[in-house]
Amino acid sequence: MRIAQVSAHTSPLAPLGGRETGGMNVYVLELSHELARLGYEVDIFTRRDGDLPRVEQVAANLRLVRLDAGPPEPVEKEEIVACLPDFARDMRRFTHGEGRGYDIIHSHYWQSAWAARAIARHLRVPHVVMFHTLGEVKNRARISEQEPARRIRHERAIVRRADALVTASAHERQLLARYYGARDAQMHTIPCGVDIGLFRPRDRQASRRQLGLEQAGPVLLWVGRLEKLKGVDILIQALAELDERHFTLLVVGGDERAADLKAELQHQAAASGLAANVRFVGAVPHDQLPVYYSAADVCVVPSYYESFGLVAVEAMACGTPVVASRVGGLVSSVIDGVTGYLIPWRCPGPFAEKLEVLLHNPELRANFGAAARRSVERFRWESVALQVAGVYDRVLAAHREREAGTGFGAEVYEAAVLAGSRR
Ligand code: UDP
Repeated sequence: MRIAQVSAHTSPLAPLGGRETGGMNVYVLELSHELARLGYEVDIFTRRDGDLPRVEQVAANLRLVRLDAGPPEPVEKEEIVACLPDFARDMRRFTHGEGRGYDIIHSHYWQSAWAARAIARHLRVPHVVMFHTLGEVKNRARISEQEPARRIRHERAIVRRADALVTASAHERQLLARYYGARDAQMHTIPCGVDIGLFRPRDRQASRRQLGLEQAGPVLLWVGRLEKLKGVDILIQALAELDERHFTLLVVGGDERAADLKAELQHQAAASGLAANVRFVGAVPHDQLPVYYSAADVCVVPSYYESFGLVAVEAMACGTPVVASRVGGLVSSVIDGVTGYLIPWRCPGPFAEKLEVLLHNPELRANFGAAARRSVERFRWESVALQVAGVYDRVLAAHREREAGTGFGAEVYEAAVLAGSRR
């Protein structure tokens, strides 16, 4: 079976921790690797944003295809919309050039889904969509940035026509039904995954030495794309309430595009007398993060919203307890009072309280850490990929039944593609 994964605005091979490179990039790459291992032929389509080859063989059965759409350089996510018609055209050209189509198109984020919708229709194959974030939900999280009405309109249209919607959590599923009218039969809830071989507990003291944290006192860790929605401001407010000030907060993630927010947060920390406690580390390569998680006493995820929240699961896989906002996917991944604590939305006070409890109690941390590691077995990527493959099987079976009714079979399709490539 041939699968096209579409990730228009960001390449799964890009370095992580930038403004647009986080959980979705990890998801698309890991899922594609697992599907390729299962024997699917997978092509990931992304926009060319540098002097990079059009087709890159990533692994057996897995290629990355860079499409020409807009300038071959980074473009702000909001401006990518203007590149989407060219993206769709070039994807069609590539497919015709190969003389073979795909059995399923699986799009990630609304922009990819918008571009790929027409191709799925043209190839007459099912379209599976995973939004990763939703405009309406971001707006309801009530942070200052507002998602444009156009995004929400497109998301609604995509929901109406998609053959299947993959949601990372039960909460996202409810939101898709409530705000977008998604039908229950359309939706499949499959959690995101974690590489439990890479993310595993390492010796805490050795990890601290490796990072030069011997004198750092208790270590709190925040990891992610540095953007407002991630709630680092709430974390700093919480830390300002702690009586004991001998601790270090490591803020991992963020590139030059996050400079303004970083300056704001530095200012906030200084104004709370925490300038010496908060260290901005910048982006760290994904495969070096296990050392950070292992060095930390607690990982904090204070987000205003998280549709899944890979960071929480990675920390737990490394045996580190998590204190997280009670929002979105975090509600299903962090087990309150067992692997960490869930805190009501935007509440620095309760955050501070639970951080104090954990920082003063090494035995509790050790128990939570051990339970956290055990709890992540259910998030193996193999299992995620098998569940996604199950969705492909179901939508294909339904689609073939429908196509049989219209007399449009695979042979007719191959002939159409070949005719296209000769043109
Ligand atoms: N990440 C990373 N290096 C960094 C910052 C983040 O590798 O410097 C990775 C992190 O390990 C996680 C992803 O980026 O896998 C963030 O995913 P999450 O689901 O937590 O947030 P999202 O990006 O989806 O909002």
